[in-house]
Amino acid sequence: MSESRDTRLRFEQWAKNPQCTANAISAVHNVRMSEVAKREGAPITFGQSPFALARGQTFERSLFREQGKTMLEALHKARVLPEDRAGFADFRLRMSGGKQPNLDAALQATKDFLESAAKASTPAALAALPAVLAGPVVRIPGGLMLPEAILVIDVMAVQIEGDRPRLVVGEVKTYPDRAGFTDAGELATARAQAGVYVHGLRLVLADLGLTDALPVSDEGFLVLTRPGFNRPSVRAGESLQYQAQRAERGFAKLRVVAAELGGSTDPDIVIPRIQAAPTSYCESCLSFCDRAPVCHKAALASGDPTVLGDEVAHFLGATTLHRAFELMSGAEPGNEAETDLLARIAELGERNG
Ligand code: SF4
Repeated sequence: MSESRDTRLRFEQWAKNPQCTANAISAVHNVRMSEVAKREGAPITFGQSPFALARGQTFERSLFREQGKTMLEALHKARVLPEDRAGFADFRLRMSGGKQPNLDAALQATKDFLESAAKASTPAALAALPAVLAGPVVRIPGGLMLPEAILVIDVMAVQIEGDRPRLVVGEVKTYPDRAGFTDAGELATARAQAGVYVHGLRLVLADLGLTDALPVSDEGFLVLTRPGFNRPSVRAGESLQYQAQRAERGFAKLRVVAAELGGSTDPDIVIPRIQAAPTSYCESCLSFCDRAPVCHKAALASGDPTVLGDEVAHFLGATTLHRAFELMSGAEPGNEAETDLLARIAELGERNG
């Protein structure tokens, strides 16, 4: 029951392609895309691998063992926290290795912590605040997900800034940190998700009247693995300002979607709505959505350059693939954009011999 109330995975699904209305409806109304794809005759491929899930859980548990020792050391090393900050608070459920018996208890414990942290202003009270929070749980107000928007944040650090605390959101991923060669798509997704948590947390704090007393940093951190080891590699100073603003705009759309269909989560009502909704195919669809073959086929038929990847789509702009082929076959450009495109294609050809 606790697992099904946690809407984190649905927020993650939405954050992977927030431009797609069909994706938003699926996430908000809790009807999986695999169900839609099944009705459309597409093969189902994105069931969560039990091995990947188990690896993720093992990695997270290792971070928080012995009062968060490994996580705290990694945050010290990455300078997210100064060496003199210590202390650990655990909001995780028992089934995730924590102490909370259920989601309601975790929600209450997190709320109690936020309220007490907001009151801390003396040096002694600030120093007593835990530096690492494992799995804090918040309920985002405003009817974003059905039946409720409950978010479990992987990890938060509590910094001390002058005479008040500041929350720093962290996102844990099991893929390896290869410095400049870390998968750019994976990083973008992790940042988008962290931006969702930053904005969601700010809404929660505003609802509690704690915005000024307990600010949330515009910078977050990602916890990845060291290549070949199950040890953490922290990427500090990740700017999440743009992603949080993007989440704010996206939340407004989610509220509209959630208010549709009388709040129904009945697949027979929701699936036709998903099928009729506008889509926005992009490269990342291939990595998470079971409807990708259907949308890819439609995008190909309409000459959407995204089928060749996001870089080609940026390069061609509003020009379809069909039109680009015509231009490359000698058709006269019909406007300034097409003239410019032909010049850039010629330049590329010269550069690549
Ligand atoms: S595959 Fe289609 S339905 Fe799924 S997120 Fe992408 S565009 Fe939306």
